[in-house]
Amino acid sequence: MSRPLLTAVIPCHNEAEVLPLLHARLGAALDQLDADGRILYVDDGSTDGTTGALLALATADPRVGVIVLSRNFGKEAALTAGLDHAVGDAVVVLDADLQDPPELIPELFARFREGHDVVYGVRRSRAGESWLKRATASAFYRTIGRLSRTPVPADTGDFRLLSRRALDALKGLRERHRFMKGLFGWVGFRQIGVPYDRAPRAAGRTKWNYWKLWNFALEGITSFSAAPLKVATYVGVLTALAAFAYGVWIVVKTLLWGDPVAGYPSLMTVILFLGGIQLIALGLIGEYLGRLYEESKQRPLYLIDRATVPRGGGDGAMSARDRRCAAKESVPVPDSLPID
Ligand code: UDP
Ligand code: MG
Repeated sequence: MSRPLLTAVIPCHNEAEVLPLLHARLGAALDQLDADGRILYVDDGSTDGTTGALLALATADPRVGVIVLSRNFGKEAALTAGLDHAVGDAVVVLDADLQDPPELIPELFARFREGHDVVYGVRRSRAGESWLKRATASAFYRTIGRLSRTPVPADTGDFRLLSRRALDALKGLRERHRFMKGLFGWVGFRQIGVPYDRAPRAAGRTKWNYWKLWNFALEGITSFSAAPLKVATYVGVLTALAAFAYGVWIVVKTLLWGDPVAGYPSLMTVILFLGGIQLIALGLIGEYLGRLYEESKQRPLYLIDRATVPRGGGDGAMSARDRRCAAKESVPVPDSLPID
């Protein structure tokens, strides 16, 4: 490999405040590499001027490309849009809010040059996060670690570098419900973690709250494990066995001692208990069925409103190699897009 090409992919939703700082730090980090750096920002339906700021960056800096989605599709879809259109020998994914320090990119890149395909950042500390967030995160990683057969490394977000072949493999996974950490793990190849200290958000506000995080956890578990369905079966079997034993006991008791009609409280308890279990099991099936329904509609993961491609290094033109890399892409972009 001569001088490799690395693209940084960054999903942005209402990040206008942090963009100038992000771009400066990211640009500096890419300059340090023994590689050509490109930056692909994905604007995920921002409403705060992020779009304009990104397009201005693309005009000013030939290394920058921008994909503007037609509305807010969520971080996973925005990330997918970026990854689908990233060119080069490797891509690095990071958040816009500088929680993933661009200064770590040279280290990720060094691991890539050693021959690793997926180099992910592992959070050594989580500054600016409450103990509740940390405790729930740790419980989540333990649960998913037990339930899923795909390895999902703990304390690892989307911050990572992917080689071209890992990226191409990932692009083959087109499911609608995208639990990215699981998908990254699923592709396999040579993976390695690099520890880093996670900073608090540089500016702006997180788009996550506990309800969203809970749904995110459900997403992860249902996308990568059918264990809850099995648990429902086993709970059903156990309850049925217990009910049978109890039934036998009632018959024996009545035969031996006779029994005036009694037991309304126990009857109610049993009925309510069984009703509860049945509803939980139905809800579980519903979770999976709902996902199957979404999947069966086969809608695109995102729609692009407009896009610009990086024009290349210092000369301001798209380099011959960029063009080659773009041509190799299976997705019919950038040529078929309205390019500004
Ligand atoms: N993001 C996005 N679309 C969304 C929500 C978030 O592209 O609908 C981006 C956001 O701009 C940021 C990254 O995803 O770059 C992570 O979001 P955030 O910092 O809010 O999440 P947290 O770090 O709190 O988990
Ligand atoms: Mg963040």
